[in-house]
Amino acid sequence: MSNFDLPYLNPISADKKTLYINARIIDPKSGFDKLGSLLTIGDKIADFGENIFVEDAEIIDCQGHVLAPGLIDIQVHFRYPGQTHKEDLDSGSKSAVAGGITAVVCQPNTIPTLDSVEVLNDLHSKAREVAHCNIRAYACVTTNMKGEELADLPALKDAGAVGFTDDGLPVMNAQLMRRAFENSRDLGVVIAQHAEDLNLTNKGCINEGEVSKKLGVRGIPNISESVIVERDLAILEAIGGRYHLLHVSTKEALDAIKRAKDKGLAATVEVAPHHFMLDDEQVLKSGTNAKMNPPLRSKKDRLALIEGLRSGLIDAIATDHAPHDLASKEKPLSEATFGIVGVETMLPLSLNLVHRGVLSLRDLLAKMTCNAAEIINYDGGVIKKGARADLVLIDLDVEWEIDSQKFYSKSKNSPFDGFKVKGRAIRTVVAGKVVYEL
Ligand SMILES: [Zn+2]
Repeated sequence: MSNFDLPYLNPISADKKTLYINARIIDPKSGFDKLGSLLTIGDKIADFGENIFVEDAEIIDCQGHVLAPGLIDIQVHFRYPGQTHKEDLDSGSKSAVAGGITAVVCQPNTIPTLDSVEVLNDLHSKAREVAHCNIRAYACVTTNMKGEELADLPALKDAGAVGFTDDGLPVMNAQLMRRAFENSRDLGVVIAQHAEDLNLTNKGCINEGEVSKKLGVRGIPNISESVIVERDLAILEAIGGRYHLLHVSTKEALDAIKRAKDKGLAATVEVAPHHFMLDDEQVLKSGTNAKMNPPLRSKKDRLALIEGLRSGLIDAIATDHAPHDLASKEKPLSEATFGIVGVETMLPLSLNLVHRGVLSLRDLLAKMTCNAAEIINYDGGVIKKGARADLVLIDLDVEWEIDSQKFYSKSKNSPFDGFKVKGRAIRTVVAGKVVYEL
């Protein structure tokens, strides 16, 4: 039986001391990686190192496991407001902390959309009441995500938006994208693009390739993603600002990001675990539970994404956690909704890269902590004195099988059901409080 706690509704007392002993403490940002102890007082990290002794602290023996900054997932759909039968801030954040995640960024394609200060304020205040982790959000680029007029970006940034996106939909109108970049330049936050040319997608439902041919369904070509990325980067180069590419799926889009980075443009990119773990063959096995947007691509794309992670070209890993009820998925492939759940499986799936020797543990954790934090200007993702005590304890070696029926998420739509994985979060700490224990 797992326990969950609410770190902001029931905050820890300011003088409470907890000493985590026998921990392999890893701070990806500084490179600190040593066996030692970490002391929290109240909601802050007070000290850490090889020799920390305190008299009146609660002791938690970490038994040599990895103690790292809590993971930050910069792309989730927690469905509040509007579709809370699929997920809400309570169930979504429970699911997140069970995956070792201490902060998430909600996407604004809710009902109503996060295009006004009022709706954004409501999300933030609801989060303080019910959420088990830190909850931030992107706001919309355009009013009601209609792609017709720009939302009030400065006001939304003042209300706490970490950046802007119409995720779920692309900003197709280049003139609006130009104006969004002007705002990005002035406000210092990212424009995060769901890169998809809707005309090229042409109502496709999975990757355009052998599998779509075999199944006789309409495919989404790679150029649907890459032409929008190329256009956005051209506007970025002309106007300035910061660009963040959400959930990259193709080699071509990644190549475009590489060229932009080589030119010194402020472009960053994230990838979702499903895109580097699976290719479109998985649709034959998992059906609509392997349908998401952008779709699972070819093996060639998947290998390019892994190389992008290895080389450091890909800055962050984020899940695009997209819960859907059974009714939305128990349909023909062409009609089912796009998306899969992800927050409970991000860490174990990503650890596969470490176990296979693709990435060091430090480099992997950086993509889910400090790098992710930098993209959204978030004060977190590090272990340092005085930082908020948002932490995860990770057992790297435990072997287990993913069982989607056991997810804390309200939804179970995952192609990873039955996958054997190695490693998981065993304890999650938010603002000094243990909010989850396996
Ligand atoms: Zn998207």
